[in-house]
Amino acid sequence: MKREDLLKVTEEFGSPIYVYDAEKIISQYKRLNNAFKKVKHLRLHYAVKALSNLSVLKLFNELGSGLDTVSIQEVMLGLKAGVSPEKIIYTPNGVSVEELEKAVELGVQINIDNLIVLEQFGAKHPNVPVCIRINPHVMAGGNTNISVGHIDSKFGISIHQMPHIIRIVENTGMNINGIHMHTGSDILDIGVFLHAAEILFEAAQNFKNLDFIDFGSGFKVPYHANDIETNVEELGEQLSTRFNEFCKSYGKNLTLAFEPGKFMVSEAGQFLAKVNVVKQTTSTVFAHVDTGFNHLIRPMFYGSNHEIENVSNPNANKRFYSVVGYICETDTFANNKMISEIREGDFLSFKNAGAYCFSMASNYNSRFRPAEVLCYKGEAHLIRKRETFDDLVQNQVEVDINLNANKKTSVSEPA
Ligand SMILES: *Cc1c(COP(=O)(O)O)cnc(C)c1O
Repeated sequence: MKREDLLKVTEEFGSPIYVYDAEKIISQYKRLNNAFKKVKHLRLHYAVKALSNLSVLKLFNELGSGLDTVSIQEVMLGLKAGVSPEKIIYTPNGVSVEELEKAVELGVQINIDNLIVLEQFGAKHPNVPVCIRINPHVMAGGNTNISVGHIDSKFGISIHQMPHIIRIVENTGMNINGIHMHTGSDILDIGVFLHAAEILFEAAQNFKNLDFIDFGSGFKVPYHANDIETNVEELGEQLSTRFNEFCKSYGKNLTLAFEPGKFMVSEAGQFLAKVNVVKQTTSTVFAHVDTGFNHLIRPMFYGSNHEIENVSNPNANKRFYSVVGYICETDTFANNKMISEIREGDFLSFKNAGAYCFSMASNYNSRFRPAEVLCYKGEAHLIRKRETFDDLVQNQVEVDINLNANKKTSVSEPA
């Protein structure tokens, strides 16, 4: 997006503010679709938790995408956005049978990731189609917190427990219509996908009524110029070929599913903040912005890199800055970043702010969560208003503890 347009957004809607480029979302969706054009039935389920604004979900619905959800509330958001329940897959972790039943009532596909719930659910509802989340124990992911396929992971049913899965399925007569894996985020090496896919193909042969195989997500996106990313075109070539071979031997054209979050929206988002103070200290120059890890937690939480551009003064000499927030705790967005000279009042743009940014924002320090804007064909649409003081207090119940009244009763206790 053009700098002038970004500055116009801050003029109209204030800062800090999240800005999303609908055209980039659309091109990412089409790119992934295109990479798998050799597969007869492909379904992309956008992972709602990356960015769950209703207008974004509606855009995915327009594109024909399904949704991947991890809570009942995300299911409800998807339905509210008009996505039909058959296109929503519900992949929770460690939830009760009751919550799965609630999802079934809402008509969505459920995905079960532990044996005890599989057994309980299968015994109670043998006719409801269920997908099984397998942990193939393939190491993947950019950070131990986002790598979920390793041996200690809490996600999925271990591939080594396949005999137990089969026993449960046979004993309950339950209907397994899909198998699934999701091994982590930021997977660079497509060999990891292909290796895990072979494990899933082998597992799939144990089930006779499959409709789909879901290969999860974890595509790595570039975080700066010349950064490496998952080569989805190459993955599409290789996995499609293997998938089509598998379908032939299985005797049915299954649906190949993916559920990308970051790939779809990360690069489409920018987070704009205003510089309040430029502070020279003995060791560095701090640029203090009007936001903090309450609004963008990834640098502090995962050590993620978000490129920062001074959109108000893009062509000046570059200097080293530490960009920090206003939270009363260490709150660093970046250290020693070369940024075009920063003056008080300038607007900085944090890149790759589409995925896991607004959706992880909080009210810490009792600040309002930012506004969100979706841009399409040069027009900026406000898709979430900035919060107000009323939002901060609306669910609070004020109780007055009367210390003096307590004193009185204890004094006048009967002898
Ligand atoms: C988070 C998550 C995703 C999306 O992962 P990305 O790295 O954002 O693409 C997909 N599937 C499941 C089950 C998830 O929990």
